[in-house]
Amino acid sequence: MRQKTGKVYFVGAGPGDAGLIALKGVDRLRQADLVLYDHLVNPAILKHAPPHAERVCLGRGPHKKGLSQEEINARLVAAARQGHIVVRLKGGDPEVFGRTADETEALDRAGIPWESIPGVTAALAAASYAAIPITHADHSSAVALVTGQQRHGKSSVSLDYGALANFPGTLVFYMGVTTAPQWSEALIRHGKPPSTPVAIVRRCSWNDQAMVRCTLGTVVEVIAQRGVRPPAVIVVGQVVSLAPETSWFAGRPLFGARILVTRPGEQAESLAELLLELGAEVRCQPAIEISDPADWGPVDHALQHVEQYQWLVFSSPNGVSYLLNRLEEKHGDLRKLGGIRLAAMGPGTAEELRRYRLRADVVPDQYRAEALAEVLAHGARGLRFLLARACRGREVLAERLAAAGAEVEQVVVYRSTDVEKADPGAAAALAAGQIDWITVTSSAIARSLARLFGEDLRRAKLASISPITSEVIRRLGFEPAVEARESTMEGVARAMAEETGRAPTGEPESA
Ligand code: SAH
Repeated sequence: MRQKTGKVYFVGAGPGDAGLIALKGVDRLRQADLVLYDHLVNPAILKHAPPHAERVCLGRGPHKKGLSQEEINARLVAAARQGHIVVRLKGGDPEVFGRTADETEALDRAGIPWESIPGVTAALAAASYAAIPITHADHSSAVALVTGQQRHGKSSVSLDYGALANFPGTLVFYMGVTTAPQWSEALIRHGKPPSTPVAIVRRCSWNDQAMVRCTLGTVVEVIAQRGVRPPAVIVVGQVVSLAPETSWFAGRPLFGARILVTRPGEQAESLAELLLELGAEVRCQPAIEISDPADWGPVDHALQHVEQYQWLVFSSPNGVSYLLNRLEEKHGDLRKLGGIRLAAMGPGTAEELRRYRLRADVVPDQYRAEALAEVLAHGARGLRFLLARACRGREVLAERLAAAGAEVEQVVVYRSTDVEKADPGAAAALAAGQIDWITVTSSAIARSLARLFGEDLRRAKLASISPITSEVIRRLGFEPAVEARESTMEGVARAMAEETGRAPTGEPESA
């Protein structure tokens, strides 16, 4: 039987913000066997592709494949002929200055079916994210998307600057940073006033988006002075003067803050997403790794007879998930915990319990073992407590409960180990002063960070999750810049935002 031909989907990835891809594009990515993506595409979008899908970045740089257009075309054809679903992810919209036609022509010649799914093009992203109303009832009834780079030797497509100079609306130049001397001079020569407002919007919709305002007459000088580099769109027209100094996007609480997130694996993701939403640039460097305990024996033993305990005490969200997952895997289901009261060391731990539809009976006001011990010690005499903890935890709780006459059993439900070596990229960024904040969300993380980065830890501000963690940071010889008032990830984020003062880094108006 002849093998079924695959299909190629051109998918617009949008300008940067990973949330700007269409649902249909996400759906096609989920089916992909091969993803060929441009270097301007946010790699976070690749998470929608299945693990088996091959991911190839096209572009320059050490890890990228600098394929020629012909090689890309050949790759698309070959993969589709093998029956693969290929997603060709392009920055912005595939049909706007994306050279998609080169590729679709090759596919047509080879008889390969394809579809194109639109994306948010850079000009429209600038309109929203820099709040420049590119059309406006009183100022602009049309928009022209203009390229600053024309293909050499193709006079048929060369721009008519006379027409553009008289265009009754907003001009948006793509790929126009290096060619600004040519196009701005040509527009002025054809009668466009040098005083026409201009905005250069760089890295639009990324958390390092920057906007510089100037005029048509000063744009060349401003690009040179500020060292503006691509990718940027340059918006030319009266509407630029309607844009606020700081857009809703640039005004978010952590906009522009470069934050190193140090939580382990999956948990890093939730914190990273929260910080990204608040405007931060996030890099992840887990300081510890979480894994199964060395021996499940004691855990299994405790769970088999779990009904004999009156209290089950969790000191961390990991403790909750490891113990409850084990319970469900090997010992039935949550009904086994029916008669047992639950205590959580802090709000994050209580939240994890809620994910399992369980409510903590006790969460102390302060996120520390001493506070929990005090609450639990009342009437603890004669009761049996099971403490679910990490391999390296504090002994305070067990000791205080025992002193109050309780019968205490501790089981290690997960293992936390230090990460041995920092990612060279993260270490270099910290050493170069390119990290503003490091989140320190547990004592174990604090200790591991001190080992991983040593003195370089002073180059960034430390955001501590709790008084206990702050104490550990100080004992290691460092000083937390902020401490969360509420010991949750939201609390850490809020503490950083408050310290930043959120006089947002509005882009300075140029001369
Ligand atoms: N297909 C893309 C354009 C590709 S051409 C789209 O629809 O947006 C590459 C040019 O797009 C860059 O030189 C720059 O002018 C613009 N561009 C792409 N991403 C951008 C971004 N995040 N911010 C500003 N300009 C961007």
